[in-house]
Amino acid sequence: MNVVVIGGGLAGLTVAYRLKQGGAEVKLLEASKAVGGKIGARKAGGEPFDIGANTVLESNDAIRRLIDDLGLRGEMLFASPQANARWILKRGKLLPFPDSPIAFLSTRLFSLGAKLRLLREPFIAKATREETLAEFAERRFGREILDYALNPFLVGVYAAKPEDLSARAAFKTLYELESECGSVVKGALAKAKAAKREPKSYSGKMFSFAGGIYAMIQKLSSALGASIERGAEAQDIQREDGKWRVFYAQQNEMRSIEATHVVFATPADATAALVQPLDRTLADALAAIRYSPVAQVFLCFTREEVPQPQGFGFLAPEKEERQILGAVYNSAIFPSRYQTVAFTVFLGGSRKPELVKYSDGTLIEVATSELQSILNLKARPVVESVAKWERAIPQYRVGHSEILAKVEAFEAREKTLAFAGNWRGGVSVPDTVAQAEEIARKLLAAKG
Ligand SMILES: Cc1cc2nc3c(=O)[nH]c(=O)nc-3n(C[C@H](O)[C@H](O)[C@H](O)COP(=O)(O)OP(=O)(O)OC[C@H]3O[C@@H](n4cnc5c(N)ncnc54)[C@H](O)[C@@H]3O)c2cc1C
Repeated sequence: MNVVVIGGGLAGLTVAYRLKQGGAEVKLLEASKAVGGKIGARKAGGEPFDIGANTVLESNDAIRRLIDDLGLRGEMLFASPQANARWILKRGKLLPFPDSPIAFLSTRLFSLGAKLRLLREPFIAKATREETLAEFAERRFGREILDYALNPFLVGVYAAKPEDLSARAAFKTLYELESECGSVVKGALAKAKAAKREPKSYSGKMFSFAGGIYAMIQKLSSALGASIERGAEAQDIQREDGKWRVFYAQQNEMRSIEATHVVFATPADATAALVQPLDRTLADALAAIRYSPVAQVFLCFTREEVPQPQGFGFLAPEKEERQILGAVYNSAIFPSRYQTVAFTVFLGGSRKPELVKYSDGTLIEVATSELQSILNLKARPVVESVAKWERAIPQYRVGHSEILAKVEAFEAREKTLAFAGNWRGGVSVPDTVAQAEEIARKLLAAKG
């Protein structure tokens, strides 16, 4: 079995690593000069700027296994217990998001009316059609919970608006609690109780590494060694004598490579272009997956000028009409990594996609003045750095499940082709790893 994996982001690297471990001959083609895709690392003024993913939850067996197999367990940094609080901006003030039923009853984040409205949730009938997350949340929990819980939460995960995402595809847990238990509140409480009794092999904790999440990319890349072709952009794939031939551009030359199996681990638009000659309907469906744009602005202040705020960070609900989506308190979460008081401010998303087109200087100014106003700071940052993507995070919109059904039907037909990447199976690092591992396992199992 020799496999060409196209795309060297986390998904492609994980599939390739697991395939190689399983005895397959692997070649990974990555269009850029560096692997990692949306995960990167940069030093800015001596401080570590995590590009893309900055905190990851050890929330499934696949991520636990990958950390262990890459020998990264000893380098893990767990989030400081002081960083548990998540803040939500309401009328210009930061309020802690309630993390228990008792905290919910006493919070000032939601009015008495919103709390009473939630008591009605168990009696609300199930949906009869696919809904957006906004429709789902407003129907089950009421407008205020939509505006001050779901809306900021979705910005934190998808940089999206609840009006744009499908409840079933983007927030499966919520959707399943309704469809299986009839009530999200009752179902969540019962599941939380059951989960406490169930022993788990993974910590369930938020982590990074001394070298940032990028440490995973570095380890995967060294394990794959010469199997990786950098600066190799796949452009076409053709059938040839019962096998595949993948054509790619590298150093201004068109090259090709033969494979028994091909894994597409590219973003949806790139995947669409590659499968176009093989299945036009599938290509059109993949091309319809939209992405939200995101800009990350890394700002550090001296400890003398700015006291370290406690907590994980804050999110700004859309109703607050701010220029930023929220901020992560990097140095509160992983104090040992920083000499300064460090923040990553997020801008853009589906709310304000135009911001990502602004110059780095403008983004720094907007992020700084918003942070100063929200956290009541007078100081100027001593470190500033920007990363941005016009297509950052795939949006699981209404109809996404039908797109995935087309992908699965294609895979069932073409057993030597497979698809990985965060446009299926979840956008987080642990979800991406779990799905990539599963794809490698299936291919190896089919080989026999
Ligand atoms: C701003 C931001 C913050 C995030 N924060 C977190 C977080 O804190 N925690 C968390 O769990 N997750 C986070 N995520 C999500 C997570 O980082 C991503 O979902 C994950 O890294 C995606 O990996 P991927 O391999 O699916 O895609 P990508 O990283 O997009 O990789 C695709 C690769 O394919 C390559 N490629 C494209 N076309 C071709 C071609 N024709 N030939 C060859 N190669 C090609 C690209 O260059 C790229 O390297 C964040 C994402 C973003 C954007």
